[in-house]
Amino acid sequence: MPCLPYAAGYVPRKSSVKAHKPGGVLVYGIPEFRLPKEIVASEVATLEKMGANIECNAVVGASVTIDELFEEGYDAVYIGVGAGLPRFMNLPGENLIGIYSANEYLTRTNLMKGYLFPKYDTPIAKGKNVVVLGAGNVAMDSARTAMRLGAESVKVVYRRSRDEMPAREEELHHAQEEKIEFVLLTNPTQFFGDENGRVTGMECLKMELGEPDDSGRRRPVPIEGSEYRIDCDLVVVSVGSNANPLLTNATPNMSLNRWGNIVADPLTGKTTKKAVWAGGDIVTGAATVILAMGAGRAAANSMHDYLTMGW
Ligand SMILES: Cc1cc2nc3c(=O)[nH]c(=O)nc-3n(C[C@H](O)[C@H](O)[C@H](O)COP(=O)(O)OP(=O)(O)OC[C@H]3O[C@@H](n4cnc5c(N)ncnc54)[C@H](O)[C@@H]3O)c2cc1C
Repeated sequence: MPCLPYAAGYVPRKSSVKAHKPGGVLVYGIPEFRLPKEIVASEVATLEKMGANIECNAVVGASVTIDELFEEGYDAVYIGVGAGLPRFMNLPGENLIGIYSANEYLTRTNLMKGYLFPKYDTPIAKGKNVVVLGAGNVAMDSARTAMRLGAESVKVVYRRSRDEMPAREEELHHAQEEKIEFVLLTNPTQFFGDENGRVTGMECLKMELGEPDDSGRRRPVPIEGSEYRIDCDLVVVSVGSNANPLLTNATPNMSLNRWGNIVADPLTGKTTKKAVWAGGDIVTGAATVILAMGAGRAAANSMHDYLTMGW
């Protein structure tokens, strides 16, 4: 869990992080060319100087539970585990070699430095013809990363038109400046592989826009008989992420919403479990850094009140 700054007089508490480095998505998701890791490292160093004790490689919900932390003597817990469970498209062939979730692709590149294999342990496949599925900011980061890893062509495949692409305009602009191609009104239906189980291409259907759906965006409607093939040797599936149920399943008496996000008071971050606060993507669903930071600050104030005055 990300650290909180402690007010003067507080005994520093331990902060647990699942990965081998603190910083969350700022370290393993957002690429170096958008957020230099040095900046995050200096923020983490400041927290450590203030007395925060960071324990890495600790999976709360597996290696230790929240209730066990209380038994160990901790008085209050803040949960900021993010929303890192990737969604897939559940299409035939999606488990072929060379098809990554954006989460895995970016983590292998940013955190594991897979492009420096064998100097670093966890390799990353460097595709020549890369397809990124999805059109949000994470898709743009994946596409631009693939380009930097030496791809000859990177296609962003999206089922609606450019107007509906959810990424920020500046991210779309940067991607296009870097010669990333947008293949719009196109939806994959299955993946093809070779005899070694490696992806070689995908079948797509052309789409047209119909009436607006619940999100207010025009619904993509398949055009019958429009199947065609796109050749590719690497696919990054970037169609969103959900709350990881690992911690929440192991934490009784804490309410979740229907998507599995923790229910927390919007002003204080208090959950329904005594002495437990939560904030960031695990509460809001995938959102922004500034919202996660704000939630941490609000919860820090509320935790201070609890530690000095009670629940
Ligand atoms: C590729 C990408 C690009 C983005 N770009 C932007 C951007 O440009 N601007 C922006 O504002 N937002 C961006 N976002 C969103 C932003 O990064 C997130 O909203 C923000 O990082 C959420 O912060 P968080 O603290 O809630 O969770 P996270 O940053 O996900 O941190 C969660 C931490 O909890 C740890 N953890 C998870 N499970 C456990 C467990 N069971 N036990 C212990 N520790 C655990 C993780 O290792 C991690 O350290 C981007 C997201 C992605 C994926």
